[in-house]
Amino acid sequence: MSTVTAIAGDNSALAFDVERIRQDFPILKQQVYGKPLVYLDSGASAQKPQAVIDAMTAGMDTYYANVHRGVHAMSQRSTEAYEEARTKIASFLNARSTNEIVFTRNATEGINLVANSYGRTFLQAGDEIIISHMEHHANIVPWQLLRDNLGIVLRVVPVDDDGNLDMAAYADMLGPKTKLVGMTHVSNSLGTIVAIKDVIRMAHDAGAVVLVDGCQAVPHTAVDVQDLDADFYVFAPHKLYGPTGVGVLYGKEDILNDMPPWQGGGDMIMSVSFDKTTYQKAPLRFEAGTPPIVEAIGLGAAIDYVSAIGMENIAAHEEGLLHYATDRLSRIEGLRIIGQAQEKAAIVSFVLDCAHPHDIGTIVDRGGVAIRTGHHCAQPVMDRYGVAATARASFGLYNTRDEVDVLADAIDAVREMFA
Ligand SMILES: *Cc1c(COP(=O)(O)O)cnc(C)c1O
Repeated sequence: MSTVTAIAGDNSALAFDVERIRQDFPILKQQVYGKPLVYLDSGASAQKPQAVIDAMTAGMDTYYANVHRGVHAMSQRSTEAYEEARTKIASFLNARSTNEIVFTRNATEGINLVANSYGRTFLQAGDEIIISHMEHHANIVPWQLLRDNLGIVLRVVPVDDDGNLDMAAYADMLGPKTKLVGMTHVSNSLGTIVAIKDVIRMAHDAGAVVLVDGCQAVPHTAVDVQDLDADFYVFAPHKLYGPTGVGVLYGKEDILNDMPPWQGGGDMIMSVSFDKTTYQKAPLRFEAGTPPIVEAIGLGAAIDYVSAIGMENIAAHEEGLLHYATDRLSRIEGLRIIGQAQEKAAIVSFVLDCAHPHDIGTIVDRGGVAIRTGHHCAQPVMDRYGVAATARASFGLYNTRDEVDVLADAIDAVREMFA
């Protein structure tokens, strides 16, 4: 089903042919204001290869039906395809079992699920949750809601001037009151790659469980939840070249089965009567109502697609782009890169001394270049660096050095207009 043209049986980085990969993404043939589209906003949402589009179309025009419900042929095929997607995710993350993979509406819902189900069951007043200063709002606000509800304490690990997590401060914060650590694997605003395996080990030594926000990590690097020993790991399929409308929550099976449902409805029950209702085990216990069937199938195709190219090859390609972009942009006068951590994913946030990020974004867009501007759903970390907003270029497997040059030239043009 998946049509990967980029790699022909060779798994080396040398075989990574970005020009052939680009052919797999129909949108990259678009022009914007008469200029070729230079899409540098994959951190907000990535573009979709034809294989994903085709799989979703097939999921609607050849075997569409609701899942887990019908004895008829279409429902069986649809259920098989939906559950096959779960199997693909389990092996992609190296989970022990498909029972550890819960489909949600988006990554945000996965975090809210854990906060509401695990949090309300196992945490009480005085307990502590630790997050970092560079979390996305999705990994801040659910814990604040829980804090206000239960009277728990939310503690925040600082980052240094370059955007590295302060591991010493984290070690100091951990203690017998720590019940949960919610930490990003890769920062969406700074690009920092957190030493998440150490974060998890230290939390476990203190007796806490860990939820990892993997939204920006999964598209850029191979993730092995068993090796990390993560208790929960969430990611956003639409940032992994898959569709919107579906999210993934990985959870250790025994922990998931100890957690109560947080939404009730069809599909999550064993039996219902007005006196007593019994629930399915994980993952169905957490999938009340009709799930994102076609979206899950599309995600399965996205996983096939990136797996055929190889996450190591994607990581190597993007690392090359990151170094090239960092070098090229730092040579622009008056440009300051926000986030220069030792370990970084292919995300470059920056400000200019002469122009507001919003103006930068608008002007480079006229040249066909799509970048993100704003606070990137991470206002606290913007405050940390004394800026209200940044411009952000985030790279995906289809980006090229030529595109970095186009961006750099467009920023030069901004400078000429404002300086
Ligand atoms: C995008 C993102 C989220 C939220 O993803 P949704 O798809 O909006 O639910 C959470 N955390 C990080 C780090 C992100 O980049």
